[in-house]
Amino acid sequence: MAEFSIIETYFNRRRYASVDLGIGDDSALLSPPPGHQLVICTDTLVAGRHFPLNTSAHAIGWKSVAVNLSDIAAMGAQPHSILLALSLPAINESWLADFSQGLYQCCDQYNVSLIGGDTTQNPQLTITITALGWIETGLALTRSGAQVGDLIVVSGTVGDAAFGLQHPGHPLQKRLDYPTPRCETGQQLTGLATSMIDISDGLAQDLGHILKASQVGARLELSSLPVSDMLYQLTAQERWKYALAGGDDYELCFTISEKNYQAFMKLQQNVKTTTVGKITRQPGLTFEQDGQPYLFQLNGYQHFA
Ligand code: ADP
Ligand code: MG
Repeated sequence: MAEFSIIETYFNRRRYASVDLGIGDDSALLSPPPGHQLVICTDTLVAGRHFPLNTSAHAIGWKSVAVNLSDIAAMGAQPHSILLALSLPAINESWLADFSQGLYQCCDQYNVSLIGGDTTQNPQLTITITALGWIETGLALTRSGAQVGDLIVVSGTVGDAAFGLQHPGHPLQKRLDYPTPRCETGQQLTGLATSMIDISDGLAQDLGHILKASQVGARLELSSLPVSDMLYQLTAQERWKYALAGGDDYELCFTISEKNYQAFMKLQQNVKTTTVGKITRQPGLTFEQDGQPYLFQLNGYQHFA
C-alpha cells in the first residue's frame, strides 16, 4: 500500500470545521478569527517510551491527539486542528484502521479537524502531532502569572494513569490510554486564572514549572490531593506519590484568586476541580498534612533520567 493510498484510506475524511484548504495540497490553509492569536504546539509519542508496546492502536490514536489538545487547553485556548506526522515500521491495515478511528474519535469529541501531515516508514513507531488553536489576543494563560496568595487548583483526579501503567488490566488503565484533555475548563478560566499548566509529568514537577516561571513558591495540602476512590486501598504515602509524581494525568493545574475561583465555580459544574494549596512568597514547594508541615521527598517522571 503506497503512502497516497494510506492517506486516502485512513486520514482523509474531508470533513472539516472552518478549514480553507485541508489534506491534499502542499500545505493546508486556515483563516484565524479576527482579534485572535494562533496557539500551536507539538508532541511526539514513541512506542515503548510514551505508551506500552501492547497499547491498542485505537488508544494510541486517541492519546496522540489528546496529549496535544491538553497543551492547547492549558493555554486557555480553543483547539481547532491537528497535523499528523506518522512513522510506521510496517504497513498493517488493521492497525491503521484502529489507529485512525481512535484519532478521529478524539478529534470529533473536541471538534478538531485533521488538516495535514506526513507519512514515512521507520523502524520505530513514532507519532508526532501538531495542534493548532485560537485564543483572543492577550488572553492566553501562561506559566508566569501566579500571584502570592492565589489558590492552586487541579481538575479531575491525579495519579490514575501512573497507577494504571503499573497495574495493566486494572480499570484505571483507561485513564492512561484515554486521557481527557480539559479543553472546556481551560477556556472557562481565561480572564480568571493567573497561570496554568497541564499535568503530564506529575503535579509536583509541573507545578514546579509555574513556580519557577512566576518566581513564587507553593504550599500543598496532601490530604486535599484529588485521587480516585480506587487509590484509597494504598497507604497515604503511596497515594500521594502517585498523585504528585505519577505522569500522564493530562489534568489542568492553575492558580487563581479566591474571588475568581468562586466566579469560575458558578460558570461550570462539568469537571470537578479541587483546591490543593496556596501560592507563597517563600520559594520552593512545601507540604502540609491536615494543616501541619510535613516533609515529603519525591521526583517527577524525567524522560532523560
Ligand atoms: P508532500 O510531498 O508535498 O509533503 P505528501 O505526499 O507528504 O506531500 O502529502 C500529501 C498530502 O497528504 C498533504 O496535504 C499532507 O498534509 C497530507 N498527509 C500526508 N500524510 C498524512 C497523514 N498521516 N495524515 C494526514 N494528512 C497527511
Ligand atoms: Mg510530505
